[in-house]
Formats: sequence, C-alpha cells, structure tokens
Amino acid sequence: MSETDSDSKPRGRGIGGRSGGPSRSGFGGGRTKPVVVEKKRKRVVTPPGGGAKPAAGAGTLQVKPRAQQPAQARQPEAPKPAEQQQQQKPQPKGRGKMLGALSEEEYSRRLEALKQAKKDDVQREKREAEDADRRRAEDAERARREAEDADLKRKEEDERKRAEAEAVETKRKEEAEAAQHEAAKADASAQAESPDARPAEDDRRAKGRGAAPKKQAQQEKPSRGRGGDERRRAGKLTISKIGADEGGRQRSLAAMRRRQERQHRKSSGSNEPREKVVRAVTLPEAITVQELANRMAERVADVIKALMKNDIMATQNQSIDQDTAELIIEEFGHRVTRVSESDVENVLTTEDDDEGAMVSRAPVVTIMGHVDHGKTSLLDALRKTDVVAGEAGGITQHIGAYQIETEGGHKVTFLDTPGHAAFTSMRARGAQVTDIVVLVVAADDSVMPQTIEAINHAKAAGVPMIVAINKIDRPGADPQKVRTQLLQHEVVVEAMSGEVLDVEVSAITGEGLDKLVDAIVLQSELLELKANPDRPAEGAVVEAKLDVGRGPVATVLIERGTLRTGDIFVAGEQWGRVRALVNDQGERIDEAGPSVPVEVLGLQGTPEAGDVLNVVEDEGRAREIADYRQRKAKEKQNVTGGRATLDQLMAQAKAG
Ligand code: GDP
Ligand code: MG
Repeated sequence: MSETDSDSKPRGRGIGGRSGGPSRSGFGGGRTKPVVVEKKRKRVVTPPGGGAKPAAGAGTLQVKPRAQQPAQARQPEAPKPAEQQQQQKPQPKGRGKMLGALSEEEYSRRLEALKQAKKDDVQREKREAEDADRRRAEDAERARREAEDADLKRKEEDERKRAEAEAVETKRKEEAEAAQHEAAKADASAQAESPDARPAEDDRRAKGRGAAPKKQAQQEKPSRGRGGDERRRAGKLTISKIGADEGGRQRSLAAMRRRQERQHRKSSGSNEPREKVVRAVTLPEAITVQELANRMAERVADVIKALMKNDIMATQNQSIDQDTAELIIEEFGHRVTRVSESDVENVLTTEDDDEGAMVSRAPVVTIMGHVDHGKTSLLDALRKTDVVAGEAGGITQHIGAYQIETEGGHKVTFLDTPGHAAFTSMRARGAQVTDIVVLVVAADDSVMPQTIEAINHAKAAGVPMIVAINKIDRPGADPQKVRTQLLQHEVVVEAMSGEVLDVEVSAITGEGLDKLVDAIVLQSELLELKANPDRPAEGAVVEAKLDVGRGPVATVLIERGTLRTGDIFVAGEQWGRVRALVNDQGERIDEAGPSVPVEVLGLQGTPEAGDVLNVVEDEGRAREIADYRQRKAKEKQNVTGGRATLDQLMAQAKAG
C-alpha cells in the first residue's frame, strides 16, 4: 500500500469521528500499534489550537505521523524522534495560529537546524554511495585477482573478505540507523513546512529509510555471490576466462567464433583468402542493388554499405541509376560496361535488306471468324489440300502453324492461332506475322459479333481480307445475305463490285477449297511478299510451352533470314541456343527460312506468344538482352503494382 493510500484513509476516519476506536481496530498487525499511541498524543495537542479548524487541521496532520510511524515502530530504541515530534507537532499550526507555543526565534532556529540536517543527510548519502562504489570496485578487483590465485589462497581471501563484508555490513547498519534517525528528525520538522513541500520530503524520507538497506543488500550480494561463483567455476574453462588470459579485456563471442573459424580454415589448409576477381560488369541504365551485387559477385550488404557511404539509402530491391552504379562498381574495383536501351535495340534493329537479296516468300494466313463458323474445320480441310501430304497419305499437325504447297507449286503458311486474342496480343507484342486474314462466315448464320470483331482487327492491322463463306452445303445457306451484311461493315466483296475476294466453300465437302487457295495465292502475289533468307533469322513466337521431356519449346514463324541449329537467339525475355528444329510434320530439320513455321528447342525459359525472336552473335549478348528485358518487365510490373487490376484489364481489352 502506498503512502498516499494510507494517507487518505485515516483522513476520512479522522473526519468521521476518530475517538481512538479506528486506530485500535484499524489496520491490524504490529504496524498500527504505535500509531494508536501517537494519535492520542496528537489529539491532546490539537485542542489548544482551538476553534473549528482543528478537525481539518488534525486531518492533515495525522497524515504525516501515520506515514512516519513505521520507522519508529521498527526502531523502538529511538524515542527521540517521537519526543521531538510531540514538541514540534503544534508548530505548523503555530505558523498560523499557535505562534504562542514557540517563539519566532525558536521557530527559525529549528528550521535552520532542519535544513542543515537535510543537507548533511544528502551529503552523507552521497558519500555512502561513493564509498559503496569504491568498495564494490575493490571487491571486483580482488575477485579477479583471486581467480588467478590458487585454491588455497582463494579460500583464505574469501574468509577475509567475508569478515570484511560483515564489518561493512555492521557499519552499514549503523549508518542506516543513523540515517533513519536523521530521517525521523527531518520528518518531524518537515511538518513545519508548507504542505507543498511534503511530497519531496516524503520522497527523501523514503530514500533515507528504504535506500540504505537496499544499498546494503547490493553491497553484500555481489561480494558474496561472486566469491561463491568464483569458487564454483574455479575448475571450469569459461569463455570469459579465456578472454582474461589474453589480457584485461574480454573478447566478444563473435571474435571467438571468428578466431575459431580462422583456425579451422588454417587446419584444413584450403580456403586461403580468395584473390579479388575483377569483373566486367554490364551496366544498364537502371539496375537494382541486388542485381548490381550479383553482377559484381559481391555481397548485397556490402553494396548497400558502399551506397550509404555515398549518402544513398537504398534497399536491395531498389533501382539505382547508371552513374551511381558506376561509382559503386569502381569502388569495388570492377570494370564497367555501360549498356543502354538503345545499345540493346541497336543489335536487334534490322536495317532493310537490299532488293537484290530479297526472295519472294510464302504468305502467312490467319483464319478468323465467329465461333462455330468453321475455322478449325477449314484449317483441317486446307491442310488436306497439301500436295506433299496428300502423297504421304495425310498428315497430322504437330505445331500451331503449318505450310502447304499448292498444285501450282506455291506455298502457303497457315497460322492456327486460337482466336482473336492471340492475334491481337501478338500484334501488341510487335509481331505482325499475318499477311492475309481469311474471314470465315457461316452461310447459314451470317455476320455475328465476332465476325465484326475480326473485321476490325484485320482493318486495324492493315491486313487484307479474303471472305470465305462457309457451310454452303447446308440447306439454309444464304451466301448473298452474308455479302449484303458485310456491306454494313464496309467490307465490299468482289460480287458487290468491291475489292475483297470472296469464296463460297464447304469445309466438310471440300467444295470451293481450291478456289480459296487460289484466292490466297493471288492476294499474296498482289502483296509482293519478299524476304532476305541470307541473314540472321528474325521471327515471331506463335506459341510456346514447357514440354516435360524437351524443356521449353517455342513454335516460331521465321519472318526473314534463316534459323539454323546452333544459332544463339533472344526470344522476348528469354534466350537460347538452337538445339533442334522440328517442322510442322514432326521432322527434324537443319534450317528454316522465311515464312516457315518451326519448333525451336534449346531455350533457357519459356517465352510468350507474340515475342520476337532474334538471332544474335554470341551468348553474352543474348544474356544481356534477355536480362535487360526481364528487368524492364519487372520494373514495369513494379510501376503498375504487380498484377493488373480488373479495370486495367478492361482498359487493355478496349485498347486492343
Ligand atoms: P470453329 O469454332 O470456327 O473452329 O468451328 P468448327 O470448325 O469447330 O466447326 C463448328 C461446327 O461446324 C462443327 O461441328 C463442324 O463440323 C461444322 N462445320 C464446319 N464447317 C462446315 C461446313 O462447311 N459444312 C457443314 N455442314 N458443317 C460445317
Ligand atoms: Mg475451332
């Protein structure tokens, strides 16, 4: 219970009528007994103050003595304070009303004495504290020395020390007692002071009473505890002891560990401090701290530290600019090779081939149209028109694109892209692979939403269209209706005196397929499609997948140049070395020229449909470009905050 608690309680009782009863029944235990005595005396004193005030005055007064009582209770051999108190009690009142009890001089003299006493007290306490510190230090010193001595000697020392400690203890006790006397005295006189001064007084008193024994305990414990400890640990080899052997200071655990490691390394004879390897660091326009560390083969923490030294606070995932990165690279003693976006693109930008090198190439055809209008059926039917395959007794399609040879010796490449999304996404990725769009419209169903969509895509891409009016074998087929409806969407077919070729076909019966192929060939001749096969290959990834047995596999449509086995290439964010080329009939081939769809094996990762494939001179360059693109993609992802939101997707779809 705090003093304030005990303060408030009696006050309430004091007001309520405190004719001795409460004190007796009161707080129980030995603590209260002296209180009873005190109070009675006080009450005797109070009345002379006279008037109505005493009740309140007594209330305030009682607070102090009660709080103070315990000290006296513990020290029955010190009756002096009690006496003093008795005498001084009236004093506070005297200030206001009982001046008669004490003369002015007497009052000020006592106040003086009290102040002096307080000062002395504080000084003594300070001295005591200093003494204790010194003694403690001495003890510690002694204990340390002991540790070095033999057991016998230590025992002797111990004995002596304990005796000393005891002496100290008795001395302390005396001191504490004296302090308590002082405190009691001070207490008593404190009543003479204004109530405002009391809290501080209480505080001090508490110190006088409580702190001294505590100090004593502190003093005792370490000296004894350490002695015992020392004895107990005498035979053990502790880390601190090892440290002590080395000299005065104790070595840290980490230092110990380092030393151990060093010794371990020495004994194993291997890991000599590695020689610094100077690396050529390819530095793009922006690089993350982690990537920079990776490229220098330094620890990320070291790089961050180096950045800090240059007043740059960056986490390992943050990007720093080229200049800063160069500074850091030089600080680590590596060589810098700057790369910029333009550098990367420079390698890939392909200057136009001169006319002489150009050779005509097969058209690349994409079939588009509304669902169930017969795209797949038509692709299948067209494949069967392949003269080579016809001889072989039909082929099965292996990859998402195939090439046929017409009866006239022309070659046509068909892209089997799944729907319009692929077409647009490929276009968005910069792969404009389609030369001609075949728009399939079912004669019995006419123009439908996806038909219109396909028209818009083709127009946006600037790709010429050929309308295939399908399912003319169906009873409800109305090709004319299709033509008129297409007019509404600004697709004017030849039959309507327009320029768009239109063919009536049936994927099921095969009717009109030859005409469709003829139309395609005709259209491609109008387009004058040409490419230079004698140059590093460039193509578009039509589809890509991670094959269980073969690893990442990409179907690539070569646009120009010739792709050969062993070529090193970049495909989007991936790179690779051509391990094998597989054609649309599942046969291994050594090379693939313009407009040839081919399956490419040997990628490091799986690219995406629409990625552009570029053959580059060496692996380093391939890695560099792929890394750069990956980083850029990551940055872009960071900017957009990771995954696209639904709104973003909608916006993208609209933009597409
Ligand atoms: P896709 O969704 O555009 O690929 O259309 P499909 O090629 O899957 O064809 C949808 C349905 O139409 C299938 O059941 C085909 O058999 C049928 N079909 C496709 N072309 C023709 C055709 O020329 N004549 C008839 N009668 N049915 C066809
Ligand atoms: Mg289909």
